[in-house]
Parts: sequence; C-alpha cells; structure tokens
Amino acid sequence: MNPNVAAAKAALSHLEMDENPATIRSKSRDFFWYSPILKDRMDHLIADFVVNPASEAEVIEILKTCYAHDVPVTVRGAGTGNYGQSMPMSGGCVIHMKNFNKVKSVYPGGVIAEPGCIMKDLDDEIRATAGQELRMVPSTYAMATVGGFIAGGSGGVGSVRWGALRDLGNIIRLRVVTMEAEPRVLDFRGDELPRVSHAYGTNGIITEVELPTAPAFDWVGVFMRGKDFVEAMQFAADLANQDGILIKLASVYEAPIGHSYFQRVKAHVEPDDTLVGLMIAPQAMDAFAVFAARYPGMSLLYRSDDHDWPRDAGPLYEFAWNHTTLRALKFDPTVTYLQVRYSFPDHFELVEKVRAEFGAEVLQHLEVMRENGKVMFAGLPIVKYTSDERLEEIVRLHEEMGCMIFNPHRYTLEEGGRQSTDARQLNFKREADPKGLLNPGKMIAWDVPDWTYDRIYHYAGITPKP
Ligand code: FAD
Repeated sequence: MNPNVAAAKAALSHLEMDENPATIRSKSRDFFWYSPILKDRMDHLIADFVVNPASEAEVIEILKTCYAHDVPVTVRGAGTGNYGQSMPMSGGCVIHMKNFNKVKSVYPGGVIAEPGCIMKDLDDEIRATAGQELRMVPSTYAMATVGGFIAGGSGGVGSVRWGALRDLGNIIRLRVVTMEAEPRVLDFRGDELPRVSHAYGTNGIITEVELPTAPAFDWVGVFMRGKDFVEAMQFAADLANQDGILIKLASVYEAPIGHSYFQRVKAHVEPDDTLVGLMIAPQAMDAFAVFAARYPGMSLLYRSDDHDWPRDAGPLYEFAWNHTTLRALKFDPTVTYLQVRYSFPDHFELVEKVRAEFGAEVLQHLEVMRENGKVMFAGLPIVKYTSDERLEEIVRLHEEMGCMIFNPHRYTLEEGGRQSTDARQLNFKREADPKGLLNPGKMIAWDVPDWTYDRIYHYAGITPKP
C-alpha cells in the first residue's frame, strides 16, 4: 500500500479542513494519556490532514477519495475515548464529525440523529420536544458525540437501569457507509448491530443512529457517606435492586477518594469516608429516605435539591465512571486506572479479594450496573502506577482472581475487550473495508488472524517515533 496523501487532500480541498498544525495535532489525540503505557507508545501520532464533513454525501466523497489514493481514514467524534481509539496509527486522514450533527426526528420512545451530535445537546432537544431523554450516556456526555459513544463507548450513566450499550434493545438502528471504490450505505438493526457498534470505526462509518429514549426527570444528585466500605457497597447494590425506586446512577468511592480527589466535596468529608454517589428520580426521594434509614452506618451528605453547601457539588455524573479517574489525575498525575468487571453472583466476594490483595495500591471505585438483569459492579479503580511491569502484574492478578479486565492500557479492540476475535466485526470488515484503510492497527484479527493473547500487540504499521 502506497498512500498518496497529497492527491487525496487536493481532491478534497473544497471541503472544510483544518490546516493549522496545532489543530491537526490536537484532533489526532484523545484521552489515551490516562495510560502511561499508551502515552509512551502513541504520543507522537498525528494525521496528515483533518476534514470536517457536514453530511453523509461528504463522508461518502471522503471515503471514495481516500480509497482511490490508499489513504488511511480514522473517524473522530469528540476524541474523549481512553483507548487511543480515534488516534491515527499510520497518519492519513482524520474525519472529524463535529459539523455532521443534526437531530433528525424525535418520536415517543426514540430519536434519530446524525453521529456528530453532542450527547447533551441531543438530550436537551429530546427533553424539550418530547419530555424524554437518552437511556444511557457516558459521563463525558457534555462533550462526547453520539456516534463516538456507539463506536467507542460501552455504557455509563443509566447502565444501572438499562445495562450496557451492547445489550439488546439499547440501539435500534445504525446507518453505515463502507470504504470501497463505490461506498455502500447500509442500515443495520437487530443482530446486525454488533458488526459495527463498539468497532472503533474499523469497518464502516456510522452516518445515522436511532436510539431508544425514556421519560426525562430532573434527577436529584445525592452523596451518602459511611465508614464501612462493605456496607456502602451493599447499600448501593441493594438500592439498585429496589424495584420501585428509580435511579440513574449508583457509584461507590472507597476512602479516601472523596477527600483526596473531589475538590468541592473535600471540605465536607473526612479522609476515611467512603462515598456513594447517586442520581435519583425526584418522585422517588421519599421512598429513598425510608430505604436509607435501614443502613445505620450510612448518612446523607448532600442532595442537589436541598443543601447548604456554599458551592454545589456540580452534576453527580461528573464524579462517576471515568470522571473519577480524571479527578484523581488532576491531583496526582502518577495514578492510572483499570476497567474491571465484577460479575454476579460473585461481585461482592471478588471486590473483597481484590481489596485484600492490593490495599491502597488499588483504590476501589465501583459503578453499579445491570448485566443480564442482575445487579453487579463495573470497577474503575484508581491504581498507583509504579512501573509497566507492576501494572501488567496487577492486571494478571485480577484475572487470576476471576475478574474480567477490559485493559485500558491497550489500543486494540481485542485487548481492550474480551481478548478474542469478534468474527462478526472481522467478517464485516472483509466486506466493507477490503483494503484495510479504516482505523488501521486497531483490530488484531485483521492484521494477524492467528494472534495469541500472551503478549502485548504492536501494530507493525504504526508511524515510527521521531
Ligand atoms: P471518540 O473518542 O472521538 O471516538 C471513539 C471511537 O469511535 C473511535 O474509535 C472513533 O474512530 C469511533 N467513531 C467516532 N465516530 C464514529 C462514527 N461516526 N462512525 C464510526 N466510528 C466512529 N465511556 C463510556 O462508555 N462510559 C463512560 O461513562 C465514560 N466516561 C468517560 C469519562 C471521561 C472523563 C473520559 C475521558 C472518557 C470516558 N469514556 C466513557 C470514554 C468516552 O468518553 C466515551 O466512550 C465517549 O462516548 C466517546 O465519544 P467521542 O465522541 O469522544 O468519541
């Protein structure tokens, strides 16, 4: 493959492009730097050019042109991914979706939108038009695009009720454009959806999404505090199991996360306080008070609709999911994190095993979510980073204890996922991207079909470090 970048760029010069080298660099990066391992390997990556389409027709023109000139194409939503998902491994073209952002239709129970919609803007429009909201959003929803969430995200605020993005019913339809001499436009539903959802844009570009919605509420943000981590964990899981109390978020923060890293909370808590962060439907607050009274070790620290803090805490979701890590990194740039799954029915036991093994080296941050109808924990612990070797060992020890790790220190779909080939995604890539130009280096199965996951994968086509 011999890319002719200059020819592709010239042919697309009538479209909106970013020419400033600093902008090109910033549009070639995401939140990969959360990981010291990815930081070392990806910091130098940069696109040759960035183009900002505003329509499906422009996306098709870009794909057709880049295909003709063998130029790699990496799509970017808002670049808030943590796995280097939207970073161009071999340069080429970055398609930035920011202008491709119209809401097309809002109907009872659903919404149709272009992929570059910022999720909060989309939510605001659904709420204003239909009194509904998205079922599930990442904690970055004020910045992230809906296309980026579907192609790169997994779940988040709302997952305590609705499970993960990949669960049946959480995506209705995706429209996808292929990377061929004559790009095709395909509509996927039902069991076709996993071909392209969470595929990092390696086998097609999403040009329209249809998602289910749910009734919107002015969610009340609540912090509870307690001295006993196990009671706090039980409290959060039991609350999620209450059939009649509607919540959108339940997070558990082991001490001293709240005191050390949550700036607006710090003055109100002690270092040994474990916190539970919640978003509760306003009409459920009375029932919640009755529920909370059953846990003598837990007390109310804050509720967003009735507090005397000089400065409110801000949205509770911006403490949750990977915002916890972001807040920790602001205070201590030497920490990093993991993505752990503590599945039902062993979730409590697994968390306790991990705490016993690592102590303060791995501080527990849990997000309560549903998996196959059962309440369990996603863990995004704050990990003290000492060396790559120790980080790899911490991952291995988690796996030996029976925890599943979605390793955030890897840039490939498989290593950041279930360490195995997803045949649906691979087969669709064979059809939709025959030259392998879409987000190269992110799907191991495409590059090395017989890869065994006993060591870290290094993409051979990565732009060498200068
Ligand atoms: P990008 O990062 O730009 O892209 C993500 C991937 O999707 C890339 O591989 C990109 O190539 C691909 N892509 C983008 N648009 C398209 C398209 N139209 N067609 C095909 N492929 C496309 N993630 C969660 O799941 N839940 C969370 O709660 C969460 N919290 C976070 C908190 C913080 C502080 C940070 C930094 C990250 C968090 N993330 C979370 C990760 C990330 O923010 C989300 O996944 C987000 O939805 C990504 O959206 P984006 O627009 O930034 O996508």
